[in-house]
Amino acid sequence: MIVRIDEDLCSQCGSCTEICPEIFLMEDDKVFVKIGEKPVPRQYEEACREAADACPTEAIAID
Ligand code: SF4
Repeated sequence: MIVRIDEDLCSQCGSCTEICPEIFLMEDDKVFVKIGEKPVPRQYEEACREAADACPTEAIAID
């Protein structure tokens, strides 16, 4: 699983960083995927799906 954030869609609400702080990070009002485009460790996959479902602007894409 690879997670990406569409910066143009992200509203910096912080929801994903609360649901899965191991993967999502907010810094200087910008949200990042901490691990870049590396595969998400299996133990965080479910939380990433949850974060994507909860994202109010559908800015999180999962491949
Ligand atoms: S949940 Fe979506 S809109 Fe909110 S900070 Fe994360 S990517 Fe951005």
